[in-house]
Amino acid sequence: MSTAATPPLDRFSMPDATGHFGPYGGVFVPETLMTALQELAAAYEKARKDPGFLNELRQHLKEFAGRPTELYFASRLTEHCGGAKIYLKREDLLHTGAHKINNALAQALLAKRMGKKRIIAETGAGQHGVATAAACAKFGLECVVYMGAHDMERQALNVFRMRLMGAEVRGVEAGQKTLKEAINEAMRDWVTNVRSTHYILGTAYGSHPYPMMVRDFHRVIGLEAKEQILAREGRLPDELIACVGGGSNAIGLFFEFLEEPNIRMTGVEAGGHGIKRGEHAARFAGGRLGVLQGCKTFLLQDANGQIELTHSVSAGLDYAAVGPEHAFYRDRGRIEFAFATDDEVLETFQLCSRLEGIIPALESTHALFHAVKRAKALSKDKIIIANLSGRGDKDVQQVAKILGHKG
Ligand SMILES: *Cc1c(COP(=O)(O)O)cnc(C)c1O
Repeated sequence: MSTAATPPLDRFSMPDATGHFGPYGGVFVPETLMTALQELAAAYEKARKDPGFLNELRQHLKEFAGRPTELYFASRLTEHCGGAKIYLKREDLLHTGAHKINNALAQALLAKRMGKKRIIAETGAGQHGVATAAACAKFGLECVVYMGAHDMERQALNVFRMRLMGAEVRGVEAGQKTLKEAINEAMRDWVTNVRSTHYILGTAYGSHPYPMMVRDFHRVIGLEAKEQILAREGRLPDELIACVGGGSNAIGLFFEFLEEPNIRMTGVEAGGHGIKRGEHAARFAGGRLGVLQGCKTFLLQDANGQIELTHSVSAGLDYAAVGPEHAFYRDRGRIEFAFATDDEVLETFQLCSRLEGIIPALESTHALFHAVKRAKALSKDKIIIANLSGRGDKDVQQVAKILGHKG
């Protein structure tokens, strides 16, 4: 990428009025949903400038979700690496166990303001479904969660959690019976019930205004981290690292720092079994430009544009497309991308548990793997912040099974 021709960055200028981040993003939905998206964009535009909305949201994030989260110095992991200091942004300590509650609470509050009494959502592993079910229970909203039948089997405990909190979980039998099909069903529901219903999308993806809105609802991660590192170290960090599924926890951490030229930012994708067709979910390692589920972006596809199968040990990163804002900043050379394979992740999962007494989500462990690698390469006066996007309790059964097989 040539930097000479690149105009100075203004992070607030993205997306443009048509919902584009450069060539990425936009609106690709059936005619019947155009009005709903415009209505949502207008409602959000009002809410984001309304101190009443922002104060109420801040209060719920504090009392219900548990913000602010700590910025934790991982001393033994740091010592183990022998280089840069590793700090962990502890989103794993939030209610329901991951960063997803930031967005679910905010969108539920917005839906309430819009007079919508019914919420729908998609979920893959069930983390976004659980966060949405919790937010809906809190606000007394009807909640329907679409989930692939295959995922329902794999994540039975999360299905039970959602049902306990009053949500209806609808199994989707189409195709691979996973996240992509669940999103299709949620879109279909929305087309039919658009007057009464708000669709709480779970990541910085889809048609405008979702990528922007979800990003904004996670900006609190970076805002807190900036304040915390300045208080603790008296300066900004050298590197930021986060895992990237759709991209919400990563852009939430990165956004506040985008205009700081000396901070290196890396998004870590799922390398699965390695970069072979159908064996991973590293869109920037094997993907190209296309349109999927409302959004133009980098995606894994075959020569005819059919969506490729994906694989990752972590369900939350196992998606064929990536949020449009990440594609934009990658082109500019502002955010770099790496990947971690299943084996690397399983090793780091055990390392972090053993050294820090923290069991990380498999998704977050992708970021930790890269943080460990970078810490080893950097000198002791450098500082890395890695986003610990969620806790790993949900993953221990799966890991036990895999490690058992390996002896
Ligand atoms: C869902 C999830 C992710 C991936 O989603 P992003 O939108 O890319 O952040 C990462 N970590 C955890 C713990 C998750 O639950």
